Amino acid sequence: MTSPTTSPGALVLFSGGQDSTVCLAWALERHERVETVGFDYGQRHAVELQARAEVRAAMLAAYPQWAGRLGEDHMLDLRGFGAVAQSALTTDKAIEMTARGLPSTFVPGRNLVVLVYAAALADRRGLGALVGGMCETDFSGYPDCRRDTLDAMEHALNLGMEQAFRVETPLMRLTKAQTWALAKTLGGERLVEIILADSHTCYLGERGERHAWGHGCGTCPACDLRARGFAQWVDQGRPELTP
Ligand code: ZN
Repeated sequence: MTSPTTSPGALVLFSGGQDSTVCLAWALERHERVETVGFDYGQRHAVELQARAEVRAAMLAAYPQWAGRLGEDHMLDLRGFGAVAQSALTTDKAIEMTARGLPSTFVPGRNLVVLVYAAALADRRGLGALVGGMCETDFSGYPDCRRDTLDAMEHALNLGMEQAFRVETPLMRLTKAQTWALAKTLGGERLVEIILADSHTCYLGERGERHAWGHGCGTCPACDLRARGFAQWVDQGRPELTP
């Protein structure tokens, strides 16, 4: 399983949220074999993990052309890391800005650790691409979501594992409205509906009633971002993303 330059296929970092759902569709359009990986690093919300299964099932049912490409789902235990990197996402502290200018939801080094685990799994599974929903235009400005960081990480992984992985980040330069537009380009309004009905983004793990933009508490930073992006996309007339 170690053929550095000829590994087809992709491993999608898949949380069951809006962004990683769009990434999964994107990967299924481009790669003949796609597997998904989720991480349990001590999140408060099992609801997020459940959303993963529902989104995958909905996509299999809706898109026969993708069903033949979508392979195994993996779940890796990162609770040990979660314990080290405690933050508002892993404990019950309030979500607020810290003195560093980062939201308290920032888990230092999380994407770095996630990519090491994902790359080790991809090596074993013979998959050449790691696909993630990291985004520089996000409200959060997490330093491990920046393309510079990911370029350095890709380089380190390839040196350290003697591989030729590509870290693919289709949402890196997109606004949240453009992410909705990309979903429509990839899977039409049906994919938009799957995201609205089944994906989960809310930091507080709230499902509750369905809003125009999907389920969630409506007030946490993740819901706020998702709702504003959706409203903006609707105002624009629900366009597809034009290259
Ligand atoms: Zn929320």
